[in-house]
Amino acid sequence: MPKKGYRQTEEHKRNLRKHKNSLNMKGHTGTYKRTKEMNQKMKKAAIASYQNGRINGMQGKQHTVETIQKMRETKSKPDVIKKMREAKLNNPIKKFSNTSIELKIQAELNKRGFVKDKDYFCNVNVKNIANVDIFLPALKIIIECDGCRYHACQQCGFTEYYQEIPEKDVRKTKLLNKAGYKVYRFWEHDINKSSKDCINTIASLRLKK
Ligand SMILES: [Zn+2]
Repeated sequence: MPKKGYRQTEEHKRNLRKHKNSLNMKGHTGTYKRTKEMNQKMKKAAIASYQNGRINGMQGKQHTVETIQKMRETKSKPDVIKKMREAKLNNPIKKFSNTSIELKIQAELNKRGFVKDKDYFCNVNVKNIANVDIFLPALKIIIECDGCRYHACQQCGFTEYYQEIPEKDVRKTKLLNKAGYKVYRFWEHDINKSSKDCINTIASLRLKK
């Protein structure tokens, strides 16, 4: 990272590039390019392992006892555990993309004449209380699509994952209820069975035809 307020001279940049290229790049995932030799070596190793019937380089091999111990030690550090968990929870792809079950619910709303970004909004923050999957402001309705794995669905046997999430969900629902919103939660397995039945459980969204 260049220092704020400083500008690197061209010469300095060139030197940096040289230095990076001369580094042993094992384990690095920088933006700098690999040397030709390095690429050839990797290619050879990949071909060799493929010919040996391995899908990845470690398949069939074992780490040494020392390495295993080292890995275990790093993984059991509280700050590392916290970081890993946060990285999982704050995964922007998970947070902001429409999951397939959300899309199914959206399609069901569209069928009933609701227009996206006009009658309902997706992945929005409601009054600084919480981020929700689908929000219908006029009806004060919030629809949450809970993925079975992420929300630790008991019916599907995902109880060992993300145990803190169901508690968070309850807290979130309570806060939203307090603010005057109705929260409807649908499980992934229910949506996959029939998104129509899910939406039909909400009286004000039921098909009038
Ligand atoms: Zn489930």
